[in-house]
Amino acid sequence: MVAADAVGRSSEDAMARETDRLAALGRLDFLDTPRDEGFERIVRLIKKVFSVDIALISLIDAHRQWYKACSGMSGDQAPRKETFCNYVIEFEEPFVVQDVLKDSRFSKHPSAPGEDAIRFYAGVPLRTSSGHVVGTVCANDHKPREFGSEDVAILQELADVAMDRIELMQSAATDGLTEALTRRAFKQAADRLISLALRQQKGLACIVLDIDHFKTVNDTHGHAAGDEVLRSVAAVCKATLRTGDVFGRLGGEEFAILLPNVDQQGAVAIAEKVRTAISSQQICGSYGVLSVTASLGSSALSSATKDIETLLVQADAAMYEAKHSGRNRCVSWSSIAPEHATGARKHMLRAGSILFNDRRSMIDCTIQSLGVDSASLSVCNTTGIPAEFVLRIKDEGFEKKCQMIAQDRHNLEVAFR
Ligand code: GH3
Ligand code: MG
Ligand code: MG
Repeated sequence: MVAADAVGRSSEDAMARETDRLAALGRLDFLDTPRDEGFERIVRLIKKVFSVDIALISLIDAHRQWYKACSGMSGDQAPRKETFCNYVIEFEEPFVVQDVLKDSRFSKHPSAPGEDAIRFYAGVPLRTSSGHVVGTVCANDHKPREFGSEDVAILQELADVAMDRIELMQSAATDGLTEALTRRAFKQAADRLISLALRQQKGLACIVLDIDHFKTVNDTHGHAAGDEVLRSVAAVCKATLRTGDVFGRLGGEEFAILLPNVDQQGAVAIAEKVRTAISSQQICGSYGVLSVTASLGSSALSSATKDIETLLVQADAAMYEAKHSGRNRCVSWSSIAPEHATGARKHMLRAGSILFNDRRSMIDCTIQSLGVDSASLSVCNTTGIPAEFVLRIKDEGFEKKCQMIAQDRHNLEVAFR
């Protein structure tokens, strides 16, 4: 009886800790931010100092491990459950596996799932100044190796340097590569302009744009060419916009535009102008001449939509639809949203489950924003998720039937039924 209570309490504690941790990660608002040379330098240093094949700095939300910087491995995220780093998050302390094959904890799983060829793992927490473990810094190798307490201490110092950099970057107003506003500065500027627009009863619209198949540019021509493309796309956007418009970089190859005194229809016309300007631009460099396209989504202030989080969610969902329906196009939120899914959204990170197939299938998701009639979710892969499913928040007794409004590879926009 006592033991059962203790187990119940400790799993409740773990759930509460995880909810707190995700809230802290949400406040940091650092997931999916652009590539940064400072973090790349730290992972290169980890590889050199410990002579290992792979080094990572990652943030971990409810369903995935996202790599802020990664050296020695391809990809930019992995399902959370399949990673060694998940142990660092659960135990909130360093975790070392000197030889996966000889470690009794993993010897039954000769290849730890998802990290097939990894024989050695050492990971330490990425802890915020408020004490929340939002991610990990880790070193991996394809060969077994020893890793003593002094090594763990060095890796932890490097993780603390990475965390200091994350916290320092919170105050940056512009992005070094493109000179666009950072995500945080963009939202702050948006808050001011939205208050003004509401006070003066003027329109205001928002556009989100994401470069199509940008990974191919990096993979084919290298990161320097990718950076050049980002600079050129940002420059052509700014040249197309008016002085009072606000331009920000939300993520790697995702930008946002805020248009004061513009309504939904006006936003569609401007999005189309930006799309044409991007696709007709020729970018010249040592790699030859490149051109890229982008997918755009737009949204506008309305009686129900009065804050930047909701505007961004709606423009994002429209952009997913532009991707899903073939890329290099503009889609407006008003053209895809059912009338009942227009309520305000609260930005948050919560752990959820997507249930379908008569509840026989379950997929972990991170709830990115939640309103009374709709939500944004992200998953490792949207393939196979049906248009209707149940969303559950485990620790809250929350369950809603959902209808898909828009989706791309990792994101879902849903209305509750
Ligand atoms: P989609 O059309 O679906 O948007 O495909 P995509 O290839 O554009 O999207 P994906 O998210 O797969 O790839 C985005 C890539 O952008 C992956 C990441 O390494 C790269 N990236 C992110 N930030 C930077 C950066 O600052 N510079 C460069 N060169 N690449 C970056
Ligand atoms: Mg893209
Ligand atoms: Mg993108």
